[in-house]
Amino acid sequence: MMRQNELIERVTQYDPDANEALLNRAYVYAMKAHDNQKRASGDPYFSHPLEVAAILTDLKLDDATIAAALLHDTIEDTQATRAEIDELFGDEIGRLVDGLTKIKKIDLVTKKAEQAENFRKLLVAITTDIRVLLVKLADRLHNMRTLQYVRPGTRTRIAEETMDIYAPLAGRMGMQWMREELEDLAFHWLNGDAYDTVVERLKMLRTSHRDLIEEIKSTLSENLENSGISATVSGREKKPYSIWRKMERKQISLEQLSDIYAFRVVVGSVQDCYSVIGVVHTNWRMVPGRFKDYISNSKQNDYQSIHTTIVGPGHSRVELQVRTEEMHRVAEHGVAAHSRYKENSGSKANAHVRSQESNAYQWLQTLVEMLLEGDNPEEFLEHTKLELFHDQVFCFTPKGLLIALPRGANPIDFAYAVHTDVGNHCVGCKINGRHVPLISELRNGDEVEILVSDAQTPPPAWENLAITGKARSAIRRATRHAIRKQYNELGRQILKRAFSRIDRDYDDEILTASLHRLSQKTVEDVLSAVGRGELASADVIAAAFPEAKQAREEPPKRRQVQRHDEGWFNLRKVIGLKFRLPGGSSSDMSSKVNGIPIRGHKGDLPVRFSEGAAIPGDRIVGILTPGEGIMIYPIHSPKLKEFDDESERWIDVTWDIDETNAERFPARIEITGLNEPGTLAQIARVIGEADGNIDNVKMIHRAPDFTIMVIELEVWDLRHLNEIISGLRAQSVVNSVSRAKS
Ligand code: MN
Repeated sequence: MMRQNELIERVTQYDPDANEALLNRAYVYAMKAHDNQKRASGDPYFSHPLEVAAILTDLKLDDATIAAALLHDTIEDTQATRAEIDELFGDEIGRLVDGLTKIKKIDLVTKKAEQAENFRKLLVAITTDIRVLLVKLADRLHNMRTLQYVRPGTRTRIAEETMDIYAPLAGRMGMQWMREELEDLAFHWLNGDAYDTVVERLKMLRTSHRDLIEEIKSTLSENLENSGISATVSGREKKPYSIWRKMERKQISLEQLSDIYAFRVVVGSVQDCYSVIGVVHTNWRMVPGRFKDYISNSKQNDYQSIHTTIVGPGHSRVELQVRTEEMHRVAEHGVAAHSRYKENSGSKANAHVRSQESNAYQWLQTLVEMLLEGDNPEEFLEHTKLELFHDQVFCFTPKGLLIALPRGANPIDFAYAVHTDVGNHCVGCKINGRHVPLISELRNGDEVEILVSDAQTPPPAWENLAITGKARSAIRRATRHAIRKQYNELGRQILKRAFSRIDRDYDDEILTASLHRLSQKTVEDVLSAVGRGELASADVIAAAFPEAKQAREEPPKRRQVQRHDEGWFNLRKVIGLKFRLPGGSSSDMSSKVNGIPIRGHKGDLPVRFSEGAAIPGDRIVGILTPGEGIMIYPIHSPKLKEFDDESERWIDVTWDIDETNAERFPARIEITGLNEPGTLAQIARVIGEADGNIDNVKMIHRAPDFTIMVIELEVWDLRHLNEIISGLRAQSVVNSVSRAKS
């Protein structure tokens, strides 16, 4: 295990101003915190954070990062707390360690290859400081280096994650050596046979090609020297995994694989890079299609070099990379290379050069902005907030499937993102194991469980609650479908009864024959036109039975009987029911329900109910308005959307009804009923017999064959209301009943 002063020395070698006292404190604190914890290898646990810190000294990172590396597992795995770290090491290090703890928490999620990209984005999205990602990568690298001690099952999972997530992430951040090492370690555990074969073959080639390599190297150096270019030439063997990938990609065998060696020419200036290419191409034949200029077109991760492949001695293909020293540094260390700017802090001239050199972190947009602004590049590691993907949130299903959604999305969007069927049957949800309203805004890393019911169809109001196009259009489709189905059923029911009045049996087939007379294309069109009230049943009968004249004359008479424009109050005389008249009763409703105890809050805050909304049995939430009290809404109330951003105002409440002292609550139902004599009487009787009090009746739509009405009534609770609703649904004159939306 590395000794304390050894680590400190490594840091002070590249950063003489490093805070040694801080590093010493972090070393001692972490060692004590991990105390006698052991790793799978049997080593003291502390050897792990220490090695992670050592890896980061190779990247020449600042003292805060090294300290954070030493402390990175303390909050999660020991008694240490964020507050304690803050107090002892300051807020900056506290934030870094906290960031690492957060990442560790989402580490439990399954990371299948197909969601690797999203997982990488999530990592970046929840990371506010790029140094957190650097420590995380070093952490993973050390874990991979010691993977042989881990149980085989866990080992495969970790190797897969490394291949899918962390190696590409290191590559994106420009750290090629780390990417290669992670890939090779993962390759070794995931495909041991292939790994061994490639390594074996490399060993063979190494022996047989030794002279060749030396020959190329010396000829190249000589030619460059003759042209007056000073350059460092080094031969380099490609890594097993990159060879393997190439074999897979090009479907070639190891024997056919020729360019296993790559030469690297490092020179002083960009000018020299192009001169080298000139010299190389005049002395050897270049392989067409292999020349790539990543200097004038640098890669997304800031990588710059010129690549070419030539036909060398003995017809062997030789790959060449030509770059400046600065480009080489960036190619090896990527993002981490920039930390060295700290050495020259304060130099404006350097700042300018730097900002010119680093112009290509497309995927790390914020970094680019910082660098281009160029004022204080030495600070960019500390102060850069990675506001990448700030327009997205990443959440998980309970099975660990990662779902990316636009920011502001809610569980309804999530449900539709999982599957349209899940969305259409969604009735509720849990976030991180807790029941929450479907309109709650999702946050990064939330685990979302959608509760479904086969009976459910999406309420049309959801279209305005969802924010994703997919959810909205699916809801619209489902709503259209449901409405059409409803109209068709209503139409069929109306026609059946109309037919039976002239002693005929209704049959869809009969309509087929009269479609042209009705100017309709399909039977469905006829049913839905009747259901919508656009076509009268009398006209359908006239079309179906042109000979039955009397059938056409009867309806006006019936309609006269049916008319009740003056409202339903006439009915009282007709059927002798008692109504409670509207007015008066509704005004003191709030004070009446004031006495209902609600569980979930203490103290004397006044509780009121949102107008005509919740009845006992409904799931309810309270919204707290400081100084005013708590307003109770049913969970399905669209009004709750207004409080979406103010989670602190949401209060969990449940009903606590005293059975012996029950009260009635106002509720509203919407009924579609046929226009027939006795329909209203039937409806009123069902409600009355079920002990419901009718307060008010409103016709909201009238068609020749049916009427849509809203009835305000008083019920004891949800079960009572549901009894009334199913009683009404059983009536042949009633087409549909539902709770009216407020
Ligand atoms: Mn660790």
